[in-house]
Amino acid sequence: MPAIHLDAVSKYYAHHRATDAVSLGIEPGQFAVVLGPSGCGKTTLLRLVAGLERPDSGRIELHGKDATNLPPGRRELSMVFQSYALFPHLNVAENLMFGLKLRRVSRGERHRRLKDTARLLGLETLLTRKPSQLSGGQQQRVALGRAIIGGRRTVLMDEPLSNLDAKLRHEMRRELKSLARELDMTVLYVTHDQAEALGMGDVVIVMNQGRIEQIADPETLYERPASLFVARFIGTPPMNLLPLQSGPQLQDCEHTLNFIASGENQVLGLRPEQIEVVEYGNGIEVTVEAVEYLGADAVVACRAGPHALSARLPGRLHPQPGERLCLGWAPHAVNLFDADTGCRLP
Ligand code: ATP
Repeated sequence: MPAIHLDAVSKYYAHHRATDAVSLGIEPGQFAVVLGPSGCGKTTLLRLVAGLERPDSGRIELHGKDATNLPPGRRELSMVFQSYALFPHLNVAENLMFGLKLRRVSRGERHRRLKDTARLLGLETLLTRKPSQLSGGQQQRVALGRAIIGGRRTVLMDEPLSNLDAKLRHEMRRELKSLARELDMTVLYVTHDQAEALGMGDVVIVMNQGRIEQIADPETLYERPASLFVARFIGTPPMNLLPLQSGPQLQDCEHTLNFIASGENQVLGLRPEQIEVVEYGNGIEVTVEAVEYLGADAVVACRAGPHALSARLPGRLHPQPGERLCLGWAPHAVNLFDADTGCRLP
């Protein structure tokens, strides 16, 4: 039975659909990440699950029970939102333990959990400080601690790491993930950061304009994007997307592109790192236009007739602008999309 289940959930603001018939299921213990650009409806989705918004249509179930109209306090969830929402007059320890006290957790147990949580989040030396005496990042960690300390198994998080500096953010990603696994938490985590999504998610839900584009594990999402939107959104440098129209456009590099461009009006998708230098005659001839040397490898911008193509090649090859190369790729590296619908072709 899914821990969180949404069936065709829509939420409108005036005439704008913030979420549009969203259906999904998250299994107990799963770390599910909602990923998408600003304004795509991620926060609205989270607020619907939390009960902070009511859907205009559709059904929400938590652990098999209808929760569509259940008030937030009765959903047995904890939440970490971008705003810290700490009590200014309480110190860090009191903020952390506030919820436990309300729930009448014993004093000994409260202090044991406080110690564990403070250690985990590096808050041990800050326990007597008030929120106003903390940096933004430290405040966010206290907010995170408050969600974790209660031991609720389902936690909703809206960009909880966005105020941490890059190094801490990276450490926290790993810690949060192993913490979630250790405590067997079900997490619904919102971010617009693809590295966070791919690095943390057991499953990633990609949203675009209120709709779900794809729900998949990170590898499938990266290797087999379901749509042009997902293909464009995930990956740095991004996937090469080459429009394959019939006719003269193809003639310059015909022998390689033709065998996959069986139909018209398709888009060929190729990850830069799946392109390699091959012997002449076995691939497509390109001219190097620019090279970004990165040490182990180099991102090489090339041109093949009308097509611009970027390839991640070994840095030791030292390709130079103006040089001619022959590039190829394994057949399984090819993604094909319908140019009109944007959908992946089988
Ligand atoms: P971000 O990453 O920028 O936080 P998001 O993906 O979380 O964006 P939402 O906050 O869910 O997006 O907003 C989805 C859409 O609904 C946006 O177009 C937003 O302007 C609109 N919206 C959200 N809340 C309201 C509201 N209370 N009233 C009117 N429109 C709203």
